[in-house]
Amino acid sequence: MTNLKCSVHSCMHHSGDMCCKPNIKVDGPRAQTANETNCVSYAPKGAQNRAACTTPNEKLEIACSAVECVYNQNSKCLATNVSINTTGDTAGCSTFTKR
Ligand code: SF4
Repeated sequence: MTNLKCSVHSCMHHSGDMCCKPNIKVDGPRAQTANETNCVSYAPKGAQNRAACTTPNEKLEIACSAVECVYNQNSKCLATNVSINTTGDTAGCSTFTKR
């Protein structure tokens, strides 16, 4: 389980600078930098997108395909703390650290 901070206010799962989902998925099988990762659990807030959860989770599971990250082991994130932030037009993992 990872302590997750999220600053992506435009996401419907964002809650109290954290995420209200019990787990998230980060993508980036070819990522060499944080900007090339992508939080695929991101969903923009909108009239049709209503949050299914509201209580922020301090710890959650992260499935991750960014295999070049030092924290990635068998497609799971083993980092103690992870920050998800806006990267370009989307949300990505600022904690990504190249092996
Ligand atoms: S720290 Fe690395 S392994 Fe963990 S979610 Fe971010 S990119 Fe994936």
